[in-house]
Amino acid sequence: MTDPQSLVRQFHKAMGLHHIDDPAPDDDKTADRRYALIREEAYEVGYELLERGGRTAIAHELADLAYVVYGTAEEYGIDLGPVIEEIHRANMSKLDDQGQPIKDERGKVLKGPNYTKPDVAAVLERSDRMRKEYRDFERRAAQANAAFEAKVNEAARTQDLSMFNAACDSLREFVNRERCDGCGSLGCCCHEGE
Ligand SMILES: [Mg+2]
Repeated sequence: MTDPQSLVRQFHKAMGLHHIDDPAPDDDKTADRRYALIREEAYEVGYELLERGGRTAIAHELADLAYVVYGTAEEYGIDLGPVIEEIHRANMSKLDDQGQPIKDERGKVLKGPNYTKPDVAAVLERSDRMRKEYRDFERRAAQANAAFEAKVNEAARTQDLSMFNAACDSLREFVNRERCDGCGSLGCCCHEGE
């Protein structure tokens, strides 16, 4: 499945709403609008739970709630997936040395000796940097593509096979240069700063 935030981003772009690459102003108007959406959907989840609305209605309202939560992340320029991973990492560090949960008498999970707090600031900094790197890559790729097309058209016009080969070579060099050392994807900088 496509990650949920990508779907919500698609919606925001299609509807002319703010999104991760064009965040909303951090003002009262944005905060009030996003909070109203979350409050409304959270209320609807609560209603279906308490009124025993059934799995279909609960699933529907949970998805509505997740949608506006991801939409809020979009409007605030936040890539929420890595933040959730960091929260998960911190939560899993609550296990004790034997890999067992520590609970109080009411069953609430407590923090064990290995617990480390989530570092949300560091995660945001990294995801912001990776997104900027990707945008820079997109610009370089568009330039490389335009240069390739110009050379190929010129080669076709002049029937110059060596010019065509040179155009292919330079595009191949671009791809090799841009390939991520970490994961092998183009335009990814996941290996940097680690
Ligand atoms: Mg709803």
